[in-house]
Amino acid sequence: MVRRVSILGATGSIGQNTIDLIRRAPRDYDVVALTGAGNVAQLARDAIDLRAEVAVTGREDLLEDLRAALAGSGVAAAAGAAAICEAAARPVDWTMSAIVGAAGLAPGLAALRNGKTLALANKESLVCAGKLMMDTARTHGARILPVDSEHSAIFQALTGEDIAAVERIIITASGGAFRDWPLERLAQATPEQASHHPNWDMGQRITIDSASMFNKAMEVIETHEFFGTPHDRIEVLVHPQSMIHALVGFNDGALMAHVGPADMRHAIGFALHYPQRRHLPVERLDLAAIGQFEFRPPDERRWPALRLARETIAAGGLTGAVFNAAKETALDGFIAGRIGFTDMADIVAQTLEDKNASDGLIGATMTLDNVLRIDHLARNAAEAAMNKRAG
Ligand code: NDP
Ligand code: MG
Repeated sequence: MVRRVSILGATGSIGQNTIDLIRRAPRDYDVVALTGAGNVAQLARDAIDLRAEVAVTGREDLLEDLRAALAGSGVAAAAGAAAICEAAARPVDWTMSAIVGAAGLAPGLAALRNGKTLALANKESLVCAGKLMMDTARTHGARILPVDSEHSAIFQALTGEDIAAVERIIITASGGAFRDWPLERLAQATPEQASHHPNWDMGQRITIDSASMFNKAMEVIETHEFFGTPHDRIEVLVHPQSMIHALVGFNDGALMAHVGPADMRHAIGFALHYPQRRHLPVERLDLAAIGQFEFRPPDERRWPALRLARETIAAGGLTGAVFNAAKETALDGFIAGRIGFTDMADIVAQTLEDKNASDGLIGATMTLDNVLRIDHLARNAAEAAMNKRAG
């Protein structure tokens, strides 16, 4: 059966890996919408090649460029955040949500309202609006399949199991670019140095978030939101090889580990073919050649982001939206050279304490409007904290 699919964030690292899998079986898919932002040349190339119905850039200033690149192809062009949501709402069987940041939330919700399958790479939408995402899926009879490698691993380890028998969930972390740096050097780390991951090839933002462990911090929140696990039953374990992605511990003492290569096409392909398993073009691990797996506890002095994630879950309500907006703003500040590497966690901590970051909305109903309102306020509060630090 031919399936209709859309890819939000098609020009990014996850989007391109998704396209790689779809290209291997083009007759199995009708591509409906592809979305991107700055990279309209890539967006247009893929949209023409995959005969998409529509290509949308998030950047309104690039609409003419996109139109020109698509001229004569029969692929429709559109631009802007609202156009991305409209494209995401087109009826399909399967959507990949792989926009980076809170910008992925509204399109993800639009896709969920189709009542079909959302493959979710955009972890920010669970961090800033987990309950809204899960409730929207439930209300519309849609299914969310996690694409983050750890959460795909947990999902796979839970297949056929009773969630009530789960004692703990362990997600692993490579430790990122600065795992073995002396603590005193971290404050001097540059964006360039933070943008190299020891094991994974990913977009720049998540790669820097891996070095600061903000990525893992978000994944702790993501685990809590998606699987409903209390935060004191979610553990983080440093595992430099990035081959065990997560482990689920049951009440009889068993630990089910998911082992696989550091290649996102596994988790993407699992979500694409679910509930079947199909052949995927990923490396087969040779455990005898690998020889050893290492584990160590994360040092919270090196990675204060982990503590901030637990505080965010414990605070509840809409605190996740503050956490995410503060983190995205601090990351922008670090990439732009306005603040140092270790300042990012300080800015997030300060923003979480700042009443102006939420304007009394923390306990409000989780609607898209309230989440976007907090997102805006918390970005301003984080900006103010950065200006103070820089000044
Ligand atoms: P990339 O930065 O590589 O790609 C991001 C995508 O989002 C691009 O298509 C980009 O367009 C688009 N985009 C950026 N800003 C906007 C915006 N404001 N509005 C609309 N579209 C926008 O990111 P990744 O592929 O690495 O990550 C995507 C998501 O998946 C993130 O949430 C990340 O945390 C998550 N994830 C990624 C993993 C990975 O291996 N890369 C692993 C697990 C999760 P353009 O490039 O054209 O500007
Ligand atoms: Mg991950």
